[in-house]
Amino acid sequence: MTTALITGANKGIGYEIARQLASRGASVIVGARDAERGRRAAEALGARSVQLDVTSAESVASAAKWIDEEFGALDILVNNAGIAQGGPTPSRTPLETTRAVYETNVFGVIAVTNAMLPLLRRSAAGRIVNMSSEVGSLEMAADPDSPFYFLNGLSYQSSKTALNMVTVCYAKELAETPIKVNAANPGYCATDLNGHTGHRTAEQGAAIAVRLALLDDTGPTGAFLQDEGALPW
Ligand code: NAP
Repeated sequence: MTTALITGANKGIGYEIARQLASRGASVIVGARDAERGRRAAEALGARSVQLDVTSAESVASAAKWIDEEFGALDILVNNAGIAQGGPTPSRTPLETTRAVYETNVFGVIAVTNAMLPLLRRSAAGRIVNMSSEVGSLEMAADPDSPFYFLNGLSYQSSKTALNMVTVCYAKELAETPIKVNAANPGYCATDLNGHTGHRTAEQGAAIAVRLALLDDTGPTGAFLQDEGALPW
C-alpha cells in the first residue's frame, strides 16, 4: 500500500490532493496544523490525520515519529502547506511578513523534508512534490511579455522561487536514490489563499501534484511542471 503525507491537507488544493490520492488507493495521511480540522478532513476522506505545523520543529518531529510508528515508511510527501502574505510594494512590505512567509513556504518545506527523508528512503519509489507557483518563475517575472510581469509580490513570489531551488538541491542530493523530487504549479485556483479569485478549481490544481506523486521510475526529477509540461525556472 502506498502511503502519502500531504501537508496543509485540511482544505484547498491539499485536501484535493489527499482526496485524489486516496481515490487511487493510497493510504493518505492528512497533515494539518489544527488537529481538529485535520481530523474532520481525514474523516471525510476515510484517511488518517496527524497534527503538523510546518513551522514548529516539535510538531514536525512528533509527526515523523508518529508516521514511523504507525506506517514504518513513507512513499509520498507533498509539501503543500503554504501562505500568501505581502505588502503594497517590495519596499513597503514589512520584513516580518516576508520572514513569516519564508518560515512556512521555504523553511517549513526543508524541515518537513528532512524529518520525513528517513521514512522516504525506506520506500522502493519515494516521491516528493513541492507545491510551487508560476509566480515564482524568475524567467516569467522578468519577461515584459509574460502575463506575470505586472506582479511584484516580494514575500510570496520570492518564497516560491526559493522553493524551486530547494527542489533542485534535494533532487541532486537524491539523484542516485529511487526518490524523485519535483515542483508543481497548480495554476491560479479558487481557494482561501486568494479569496477564491482563481479561475481554476482546487481539483484541477491538485492534478499535477497527484501526477508527480505517482510518477513511475522513468519520470523526471528536479523539474518544475504543470499540466501542460515544464515551466521556465
Ligand atoms: P489554502 O486553501 O489557503 O490552504 C493552505 C493550507 O496550508 C491550509 O491547510 C493551511 O492550514 C495550511 N497551512 C498554512 N500554514 C501552515 C503551517 N504552518 N503548517 C501546516 N499547514 C499550514 O491554499 P491553497 O490555495 O490550497 O494552497 C496550497 C498550496 O498551493 C500552497 O503552497 C500555495 O502557495 C500553492 N499555490 C496555490 C495557488 C492558488 O492559486 N491557490 C497557486 C499556486 C500555488 P489552515 O487551514 O490551518 O490555515
